[in-house]
Amino acid sequence: MSTTTIDTGKVQATLIQAPIPGGAGLVEITSGRKTATYTIAEIGHCDAGFSAYRLLEQGRPADECYDVEIGPCGYRRCDCRGHEAHGHCKHAETVRALITRGALPDPAPVADDDLDPFAHSNADIPW
Ligand SMILES: [Zn+2]
Repeated sequence: MSTTTIDTGKVQATLIQAPIPGGAGLVEITSGRKTATYTIAEIGHCDAGFSAYRLLEQGRPADECYDVEIGPCGYRRCDCRGHEAHGHCKHAETVRALITRGALPDPAPVADDDLDPFAHSNADIPW
């Protein structure tokens, strides 16, 4: 089984098992002296290039999960306390790095064909 390891300088992480569609995978995250294993599952994505993943540290109750959102132009968000306080955290860093490495699916960017220049035309106004 192949694993993907990333190292952002602050965070080291190993994707032990990539999440299957509709299911969960496993990722080990090391930050400072602490190493923890999380289940990771995709909880949504959209054509505009945003994707969301839910992480839950093993041994923790399910309501202590963290939802991470990654988007274009460096956008990232996590609902853990660290991210709320500092604007970054090991969860969001890990998910972004794994997407960049191609270890997690990256939602397709909007294709030009999807932008209909006549969608808001006045063609149907009866005058
Ligand atoms: Zn976080």
